[in-house]
Amino acid sequence: MSETISYESLLARIQARDEHSHDVLDPATGDLVGRAPVQDLDALERAIERARAAQPGWAALTDQARRDHLHRAADAVERWAEPLAELLSREQGKPLDGLNARFEVGGCVAWLRAAAETPLPTEVLVDDGATYAEMQYRPIGVVGAITPWNWPMMIAIWQIAPSLRMGNTVVAKPAQSTDLSGLAIAAVLNTTLPADVLTVVTGPGRSIGQALSSHPSIGKIMFTGSTEVGRQIIEASADNITRLTLELGGNDAGIVLPDVDPAAIAEGLFWGAFINTGQTCAALKRLYVHDSVYDAVVENLIAFAASVPMGIGLQEGNLLGPLQNRKQYETVVALVAAAKESGAQIVLGGDPDDAAVGHFYPTTLVTDIDPHNALVVEEQFGPALPIIRYSEVEEAIRLANELDFGLGASVWSSDRAKAQQIAGRLEAGTVWLNSHGGLHPMVPFGGAKQSGYGREFGVEGLKAVSEAQVIVG
Ligand code: NAP
Ligand code: MG
Repeated sequence: MSETISYESLLARIQARDEHSHDVLDPATGDLVGRAPVQDLDALERAIERARAAQPGWAALTDQARRDHLHRAADAVERWAEPLAELLSREQGKPLDGLNARFEVGGCVAWLRAAAETPLPTEVLVDDGATYAEMQYRPIGVVGAITPWNWPMMIAIWQIAPSLRMGNTVVAKPAQSTDLSGLAIAAVLNTTLPADVLTVVTGPGRSIGQALSSHPSIGKIMFTGSTEVGRQIIEASADNITRLTLELGGNDAGIVLPDVDPAAIAEGLFWGAFINTGQTCAALKRLYVHDSVYDAVVENLIAFAASVPMGIGLQEGNLLGPLQNRKQYETVVALVAAAKESGAQIVLGGDPDDAAVGHFYPTTLVTDIDPHNALVVEEQFGPALPIIRYSEVEEAIRLANELDFGLGASVWSSDRAKAQQIAGRLEAGTVWLNSHGGLHPMVPFGGAKQSGYGREFGVEGLKAVSEAQVIVG
C-alpha cells in the first residue's frame, strides 16, 4: 500500500475519533491543532496485555533482525520528517529551524540508528581454566515509557529505541499537553514495526501514568519528567520492584572563570540557556560569573540575545518560540516578578504581554541577583537566566553544588586543565567544558542527586533496559 505523506494524513492517523478527547491548542496562536484521545484504564489494560503477548515473539527475533527493524523505523521517520516537524511546531510551539522541530526529528533518526548500531556482545567475566563465567543481557519484558512535553518526540525515542533493541515491547504514555506529538512519532514507527510491539496510551498522568507505573506486567519504567512525579513513580513501583530509569528535573549551573573571552563565549552561553526557549532539562539555568569579567559577559550576552528572533514557530526565521503551556508561562512570570521585586536588575526582557494569545515570554536576563533568590534556586524552565556575580571560585563551586538537583553543569575557561579540575568537583551527571547541554547518542546521560538515577544512551543505555544474566560453567 502506498502511503501519502502529508501533514493532513499524519493528523488523520492520530486524531481522536470520538468524544473521549481533548482540544489541542497551538501555544503560539491559540488555534485548534487537533483533538487528542483521552483513554481509560481499560484501554491501558488491553495495551499492556497485547504488549505482553507480543513480547516473546519480538525477543525471539535475532538481534540483527531487531536492529534492521530500528533502521527501517528510522527510514520512516526520515520520510515523514516534514509533517512530524510541522506537528511538533504547532503543538509544542518550537520553531521549525534552529535547534528546534526539524532538529528534534533529526535527533529521533540519530537515536534510532544509534540504538540499532551500538554493539552489546556477551561479556566474558572469568575464563581462567578453573571457572568460566559470562554476562548476557536479556529482555526485561514490557517497558512503560512516560515522557514530558518539552522534547516530546525525541525523549520518547530515547526510551523506545533501546527498549525495542533489547527485545522488550513498549507501552508509551505521552505528556497530555503534547499527546499528538507522542502519538505521531509512534504512528510513524508503527508503519514499519510488527503489531503490538509499540503502543501509545493517552490520558492523565495521575491515572494512566500511575496505573502503568504500578502494573505487575510492567518490568521497567523509563521516566522523564519532574522530580515530584519521579517520587510518585518510585512509590507506585515499589510493590513489583519494577526497574526504573528516572530522568528528573534540573537546575544546571554554569561557572565562568576570569580567563574567558566574553565575546567568544556569548553564543554558547546563550544557546546553553535558551535552547527550546529554556524548556530543556539540561539547560543552563544559573550562571555564576567572576567579578572581573561580569560586566563584559553580561554586555555580550545582551547583544547576542537581542538578535535572536522569537515568534510563531511556523514562520521561518524564528529561533525561539512560546512557552508550551500557560502553567509554565505563569511560573516564569511569577519568578521574574519576584526577582525584580527583590532588587535584581532586569537587563533584557522581563516585560511579557499578558493580553497576548500566545504564551510568549521574552528572552530575559537578570543580573545582580541574590544567589538564594527563587529564580536561582528553583527550576524555572523558561527563557529567563539569572546571572550571579562571584569573586572566589570556591564560592561559585559551593553555590553550584548546594541544590538537590544534579543533572548537568558547565565550566567556561581558556585553561582546560583548570576547567577539568573544577568539573571533577561539581555534583552533576554531566559537566560540559565551554558549552552546555549538547547530547550524543553514544555518550551516557543522566542525573546525580535528585535529578534522578540510571543512564540513557550508548552501551549503558542498552544495559539499562535489560536484565543482566550471568552464565557460569
Ligand atoms: P511531569 O509533570 O513530571 O510529567 C511528566 C510525565 O509524567 C507526563 O507524561 C505526565 O502525564 C506523567 N505523570 C504525571 N503524574 C504522574 C504519575 N503520578 N505517575 C506517572 N506518570 C505521571 O513533567 P512535565 O511538566 O511534563 O515536564 C517538565 C519536567 O520534566 C521538568 O522538571 C524537567 O526538568 C523534566 N525533564 C527532565 C529531563 C531529563 O532528562 N532529566 C528531560 C526533560 C524534562 P500528564 O502530562 O498527563 O500529567
Ligand atoms: Mg506537568
